[in-house]
Amino acid sequence: MKALIFEGPGRKTLKDRNIPVIDSATDAIVRMTKTTICGTDLHILKGDVPSCTPGRILGHEGVGVIEQVGAGVTQFKKGDSVLISCISSCGKCEYCRRGMYSHCTTGGWILGNTIDGTQAEYVRIPHADTSLYPIPDGADEDALVMLSDILPTGFECGVLNGKVQPGGSVAIVGAGPVGLAALLTAQFYSPAELIVIDLDENRLQAAKRFGATNTIRATGEEAKQRVFELTENKGVDTVIEAVGIAPTFELCQEIVAAGGVIANVGVHGFKADLHLEKLWSHNIAITTRLVDTVSTPMLLKTVRSGKIDPKQLITHRFKLDDILDAYDTFSKAEDTRALKVIIEAV
Ligand code: NAD
Ligand code: ZN
Repeated sequence: MKALIFEGPGRKTLKDRNIPVIDSATDAIVRMTKTTICGTDLHILKGDVPSCTPGRILGHEGVGVIEQVGAGVTQFKKGDSVLISCISSCGKCEYCRRGMYSHCTTGGWILGNTIDGTQAEYVRIPHADTSLYPIPDGADEDALVMLSDILPTGFECGVLNGKVQPGGSVAIVGAGPVGLAALLTAQFYSPAELIVIDLDENRLQAAKRFGATNTIRATGEEAKQRVFELTENKGVDTVIEAVGIAPTFELCQEIVAAGGVIANVGVHGFKADLHLEKLWSHNIAITTRLVDTVSTPMLLKTVRSGKIDPKQLITHRFKLDDILDAYDTFSKAEDTRALKVIIEAV
């Protein structure tokens, strides 16, 4: 089969690999139909994720059809259409029992990281019963690819942790696919203000189309001033950090209102300053989270019923044979205007 292989920092190739086989009774082999590329795959290629070693097939998102199941799989059979979660979970360990699938002792974020991933014709999914979701008849598969990672990430790490409320004010720093996923899912709760901050005009235009009440093309002090103008000098009740760098985390601390929450989503490779000397008396909370994907069944229903349309995030399409071009397009988003790319494996 064809597969996209991480060859070490800065290097990737499309190669022939053996089709994976069942390794444990709870595994399933899935024939991929559609996958995509995540900002996190670019982090791996930069060398930011040491747990992912050369030779690994990348990818942790996608939909497919069950090819084979191990003897212990009870919920799926050959021929079933499935959504693959970026988080694998046994459903039985202490963390899974607490709904923290991201910290499953024999799973978590392993796909396309410590085991081979989805940017291939076939993938082996461990703990298949609790790591795959059945695709309802007639569902739009392109939209569902957005449910493997970015929708649950924006919703769980941003909207739920950030306690978005009816009538509340929200600022989302970073209008990449994850920030935009937080923007779409924040609207479940009808906040009064939904301010999106980024430097990329094209992404801010997308944010406007997706429901932002205001956009700010600035960062640092200028962005802070604009937020205060928009909020009667109070700041916002919820700030969602969806970039992953120190200056934007520090901006979040500047624009959170008294009693508010800073919900960090970004993957941070470096330390950031925490201004406790300003914040200690402001009754704020700061949260962090690796996506658990516990909200996936709920999000599936909202997509199916048309309450949200994550298909809006898709800007480009490629065949698996052209996945190197897909990486090129996705990694040059400012020029190509890419948000999410769909890669068809068949
Ligand atoms: P992305 O790189 O596509 O988007 C980041 C956005 O930030 C871009 O639109 C960019 O223009 C903007 N930006 C850069 N510098 C800025 C600045 N100084 N001020 C304002 N905006 C700025 O990334 P993405 O795919 O949307 O992911 C966002 C973050 O979420 C990444 O760090 C990613 O690794 C992380 N992530 C976290 C989880 C989790 O479980 N916590 C899961 C998936 C992704
Ligand atoms: Zn991801």
